[in-house]
Amino acid sequence: IRKNCPFKIDIGAIFNHKPRIHKSIQPGNFRAESKELVFDIDMTDYDDIRTCCSDANICHNCWTFVKIAIKIIDRALSEDFGFSHRLWVYSGRRGVHCWVCDPQARKLSQSARTAIAEYLTLVKGNDQQLKKVSLKQPIHPSINNALSIIDEYIETLVMEQDYLSSEERCNKLVRCLPRRYSEQLQEDWKARNETSWTRWQRMESVLNKDTDDRTCKEVKLQYSYPRLDVNVTKGLNHLLKSPLCVHPKTGRVCVPINLKEIDDFDPFAVPTVSQLCHEFETRTDGKKDYHCTSLAPYMTTFVHFVTSLQSSSSAQRRKSGATSMDF
Ligand SMILES: [Zn+2]
Repeated sequence: IRKNCPFKIDIGAIFNHKPRIHKSIQPGNFRAESKELVFDIDMTDYDDIRTCCSDANICHNCWTFVKIAIKIIDRALSEDFGFSHRLWVYSGRRGVHCWVCDPQARKLSQSARTAIAEYLTLVKGNDQQLKKVSLKQPIHPSINNALSIIDEYIETLVMEQDYLSSEERCNKLVRCLPRRYSEQLQEDWKARNETSWTRWQRMESVLNKDTDDRTCKEVKLQYSYPRLDVNVTKGLNHLLKSPLCVHPKTGRVCVPINLKEIDDFDPFAVPTVSQLCHEFETRTDGKKDYHCTSLAPYMTTFVHFVTSLQSSSSAQRRKSGATSMDF
């Protein structure tokens, strides 16, 4: 790496032959054998529910969506699928990646990856479709768990995005509700000059009076549930930027996120390459390793992740060695 000095590294699958010789091998015989199970969350996929920014721009308010997404996906990967080795990294610009590195995850076929991506996808439909979440009864426990996470953030989110601050925004929201509610809600909202959160609570109490409790949940999910770029998860041939690369547009390092401190993670405080150079240059003791830079706390998260992965795979090897001794 030092000799070639790449400005960016993408990571893909491990193939059954060396990539260098893939042109001399018949197409069908060059196969991906294993790859981390990866997830990509990108703020551009939230443009239908973001009022603060659009396209490649992000702000602190956008980051609330990311926190909700990380918590929901991470819980499902851990509790529903039993994956232990999950590394979350900030992409350096407008999203996050998750690398699931358990041996079972790395061996998953394309169809299994597709099934997991679909299990985690609730918001469906194109820009023309107004109602994008449709729940079936009984509601799956995983969705109820996601809703509990959303409940921790919903007030912050509704206030930050100011979802019900104008007639236009109110109209947009009622269009994803059954017709029987729209008139009453619009009148209620119009009659009082209230904050988005008070209006939201008013809506929840109206919707919750219904014997069918799905409508209220569907709205909450539509306005906050993670949007995954499923093609990144499905494909074994897809490449993803390596952790610790520098984002070419922002100069920020693609740093691991400590999930224990997820609520304090600030994407705008992540060190840039020029900041790190400056930190090196201004050191008087001449030390030049990451421990003496603002990258240190992120590297602690990374080292902790790698160490735990290494110790579980060597324990696995000892276990399979012991089994063969039994013979
Ligand atoms: Zn924003």
